[in-house]
Amino acid sequence: MWGIGTDTACLMCPGGNESRDHLFAMCSFSRYVFATVMRKICLFPEALTWQDQLQWVIRAWSGSSDKAKAGRLLWRLSLNYIWREMNIRQYGSKHVCSPVQIVKKIKDERILIAQNNQSMLSIGQKFIE
Ligand SMILES: [Zn+2]
Repeated sequence: MWGIGTDTACLMCPGGNESRDHLFAMCSFSRYVFATVMRKICLFPEALTWQDQLQWVIRAWSGSSDKAKAGRLLWRLSLNYIWREMNIRQYGSKHVCSPVQIVKKIKDERILIAQNNQSMLSIGQKFIE
């Protein structure tokens, strides 16, 4: 996996191969998480590669507007939770989460972040349910 040259099935969705491009750009699990978490900010792009997604994020959310801050925060949280979930599955835990549960975890963490940061509180109220 991850450039070692083996061809392993994705642990998150049926049919995909485990790779960075698949997990963060093409995987149906991840696409659901990104699209749902971002739905108040934007129509998250259906990028074909990690690099394309990264370029899009840099173009869309550079700067210090509330929307850019919210986009970066939610994107980072989404990546973090998708990565954690992939690791949980890789090590055979029975406590796996559905994409809907991951979105709920991201929402809960976003609320915690907002409670500890006044600027994120107003951003959260505007862009995140
Ligand atoms: Zn997948």
